[in-house]
Amino acid sequence: MKVLVINCGSSSLKFQLIDSESEQCLAKGLCERIGIEGSMITYSPEGGEKEKTETPMPDHTEAIRLVLEALTNPKTGVVKSLDEIGAVGHRVVHGGEKFAESVVIDENVMKAVEECNDLAPLHNPANLIGINACKKLMPTTPMVAVFDTAFHQTMPEEAYMYGLPYEYYQKYKIRRYGFHGTSHSYVSKRAAEVLGKKYEDLKIIVCHLGNGASISAVKNGKCIDTSMGLTPLEGLIMGTRSGDIDPAIIEFIAHKEGKSIDEIMSVLNKKSGVLGLSENLSSDFRDLEEAYNKGDAKGIRTIKTFCYRVAKYIGAYVAAMNGVDVICFTAGVGENAALVRTSVCEYLGYLGITLDQDANHKRGEDIAISTPDSKTTVMVIPTNEELAIARETVRLV
Ligand code: ADP
Repeated sequence: MKVLVINCGSSSLKFQLIDSESEQCLAKGLCERIGIEGSMITYSPEGGEKEKTETPMPDHTEAIRLVLEALTNPKTGVVKSLDEIGAVGHRVVHGGEKFAESVVIDENVMKAVEECNDLAPLHNPANLIGINACKKLMPTTPMVAVFDTAFHQTMPEEAYMYGLPYEYYQKYKIRRYGFHGTSHSYVSKRAAEVLGKKYEDLKIIVCHLGNGASISAVKNGKCIDTSMGLTPLEGLIMGTRSGDIDPAIIEFIAHKEGKSIDEIMSVLNKKSGVLGLSENLSSDFRDLEEAYNKGDAKGIRTIKTFCYRVAKYIGAYVAAMNGVDVICFTAGVGENAALVRTSVCEYLGYLGITLDQDANHKRGEDIAISTPDSKTTVMVIPTNEELAIARETVRLV
């Protein structure tokens, strides 16, 4: 079956068409600036040339119409007609406590996702717009929602509760949810597969380090803790997000700089993280690594602080699971930045880890980067959220 995977944001839409039998991506692309002047669609068929076309996209329905047109284009398309697309898988950011698994989308599901809008006001409404636009253009094609939060729904109460008045949980469902679940699930399962071990027998820590970053503890095939919380702001230091801070800092900055809560939240989400720490040098680890290697104080401070936080979370999850068998690195930074992996693992001597630096410098493979005599295995597993969404979609339809 050919599955169209859609990841819809408020003004952008990423897509991939995946052949579920071969698990190959047939074509992929991106619509940008939807509803804004200068809309653009990028389309790359497998093995073909990447095309970038500026064309008006007043709304998401028009964006999806252009995606379907590109996929069926007689010259550069990869299917003859839309009938060849057997199902659509949608990434949905927040499933609240309602969804512990992916689901086939129907009216009730749409309503339940809408009820989670409060918890992800920037993401869920955009995801729903994408689903509605697809339904308009492909009314008979089955669609599945795959939630970023679902994998983490197995966390026990002691891991998901905050130390706040319990009534906030009762009234507003304020608790820790976690995100990047599709990636944490895919990577942890893949690690077990590559090692030839049973998923249910392992204690795995997954470090998803991209522009957004989170860590999870997966014990015997179930997520028992993760670093993001009610929103993706909690946990690690990220590209532009602060991660954990003392909540009193918000009041402190409000007084000192005369900022509103909204303004401070914008600083914490968009101007903090490695971007803020590096005095706006960059949010991209390629630039930060270059600075670090030149001995630049901003680069050194930023990478050291980022890695220390990762190592601290790993320590916490070793405690939570009473041990660890495998530590996986994934996503843009985790897969590419050998320096970050080395710096994190320097803290992990107590786990009997020695890195094999030749393996640590390879790219794009599922690979163990610790020496065979290491007591804990460290791996790089490139994530593939689109493939995971396509697999879930096929499983359910
Ligand atoms: P997201 O999906 O959260 O936007 P990604 O997982 O794609 O993020 O990660 C993007 C980040 O990965 C970039 O901002 C950059 O910091 C980092 N990155 C990508 N390639 C490299 C590389 N070759 N070396 C170091 N860091 C890299």
